[in-house]
Amino acid sequence: GLEIRLASRPKGWPTPENFDIVEVETPRPGEGELLVRNLMMSVDPYMRGRMNAGRSYVPPFEVGKALQGRAVGEVVASNAEGFQPGDHVVHQFGWRDHAVVRPEHAVKVDPQAAPLGAYLYVLGMPGLTAYVGLVEVAELKEGDVVFVSAAAGAVGLLAGQIARLRGASRVIGSAGSAEKVRYLVEEAGFDAAFNYHDGPVAEQLAAAAPNGIDVYFDNVGGEHLEAAIGALNDFGRVAECGMISQYNATEPQPGPRNMFMLVTKRLKLQGFIVTDHPHRQDQFLAEVGGWLREGRITYRETVVEGLRNAPEAFLGMLRGENTGKMLVRIA
Ligand code: NDP
Repeated sequence: GLEIRLASRPKGWPTPENFDIVEVETPRPGEGELLVRNLMMSVDPYMRGRMNAGRSYVPPFEVGKALQGRAVGEVVASNAEGFQPGDHVVHQFGWRDHAVVRPEHAVKVDPQAAPLGAYLYVLGMPGLTAYVGLVEVAELKEGDVVFVSAAAGAVGLLAGQIARLRGASRVIGSAGSAEKVRYLVEEAGFDAAFNYHDGPVAEQLAAAAPNGIDVYFDNVGGEHLEAAIGALNDFGRVAECGMISQYNATEPQPGPRNMFMLVTKRLKLQGFIVTDHPHRQDQFLAEVGGWLREGRITYRETVVEGLRNAPEAFLGMLRGENTGKMLVRIA
């Protein structure tokens, strides 16, 4: 078998040298455990944070040990009640081709009901993140004008579409390429989109939202956040989902210069972590799952082939090489 370990902690942008690809013996499941053959795994921005030492909302990866992350696989041996070879499960032990998993850390999924990648994306953690951020954190209301950054990425692509389906009057997205901007407007139903490389975000946002915005779904931070604060209408709300523009920074980044507008416009900014909101899971699956079946949501996956290429998939995601969700097919 194969597993990918953290070779060293990156300073700034990670490189392939921060990863070790190691041949290992296929592990054996102990009493009460499952052996899972991984089929697909997810690479996510939060993993960059786990490559650093120090406390965050998830513990850091350990140097010399296999990385972790969501994966979907097939049970090949089971010493646990309720699981059989042939079952498919989602669990936390990606970055390896075989994983030993305790049953309380495995969630059964049905490969007939949806393609496997869906359990790592639209029906999985990134989908729930988009849903919770809009519905619960940003308290989206009918008629709101909504701005989403990293809008052609996994979370952003769904956030924009959920906003539209939940009654937003106008949905605006920003992304890092002309092709992504085209995709957002022509295929994903965004009312407007712009490439943040084309000019100042504040100017492009003002042009796309002449009457201001009511909700900002922030995936990026930095210049995007300052521009959004400037564009927000009175009583506007910001769901602070992530700030990917600073994940590889080596120095603390400056904050928005217009924070006093939080007072004058009575704005609300709230950070959130999706794992605090499991109570939304059923509602999310019913609502978003329904839209999917009705063909009212579109999504994309960028699939990299082979576990050995997982580090490149991760680095590529940080550089914006994905449209929709970046996934790795292991088998
Ligand atoms: P994405 O699929 O959106 O991939 C990351 C994208 O970020 C890239 O495709 C790239 O697209 C964009 N990006 C990279 N660098 C920059 C930059 N400097 N400025 C603007 N855009 C940049 O990842 P996810 O959908 O998985 O995650 C999106 C955000 O949501 C992240 O901030 C992540 O940390 C956060 N998140 C938070 C969760 C929570 O519980 N709070 C849960 C899941 C995700 P482009 O070509 O447009 O630059």
